[in-house]
Amino acid sequence: MPDRIVGGKVILDQRKSISIEPIKEAAEPFLQRLYPGIWQQAESDIDQILRLMYDGVWRDYCDEIEADIHAFVDSHPVDEHRTEPAIKAWSQQCGEKLEGEYSQSYYRVAVHVGLVAYVNQMRELRRKMSCDQGWHRIVERFHDACALSTGFGFLGAHEKWGGLRITYRCDQVATEACREAERVAIEHAAVTCETCGQPGKLRQTAWRKTLCDEHAGSRYND
Ligand SMILES: [Zn+2]
Repeated sequence: MPDRIVGGKVILDQRKSISIEPIKEAAEPFLQRLYPGIWQQAESDIDQILRLMYDGVWRDYCDEIEADIHAFVDSHPVDEHRTEPAIKAWSQQCGEKLEGEYSQSYYRVAVHVGLVAYVNQMRELRRKMSCDQGWHRIVERFHDACALSTGFGFLGAHEKWGGLRITYRCDQVATEACREAERVAIEHAAVTCETCGQPGKLRQTAWRKTLCDEHAGSRYND
């Protein structure tokens, strides 16, 4: 089992980490629930066309689908705004530039179920975060940057002395890339309000917190 990295130091760790499936695989149960007619492995050739069309858009437009998924979660950083109606409405306006009505509608199905799957995965991840929600999207981005690295497993994220700390494990070959993603996340958190995600800075009184002017209020004068 690869070691855990905490603040740049390698520590032996036995805790269970979260490893997340690629989006297309993770979307299967949601495809089954929301679009059973596409999901089913049909007996007849004519019915299989639906499934082939769906698999085809993932094959041809995987990067675009994932970009549309990330654009939604970036603009909805707070989990309670990531509702199923909001996700569906978002998916309906994706893929506008695609040629042909059919590929457009299958593209929208892929964004819809992919997004439901991604949001569910991130809920799982958020259970391991003990920082306020203003930093949650930063940690999600860190996770996405490292998810495909060899041996990567997310262990947790927390606030300490007003800064973000992330714990994870990965194989030695991936250490450099993961540390770089960790550095980006920590730098981003240092200028982001931990409460709301708006621009913020480190405040210091009895304790340290990174907050925007509004959430710092009168308690933190610097
Ligand atoms: Zn704030």
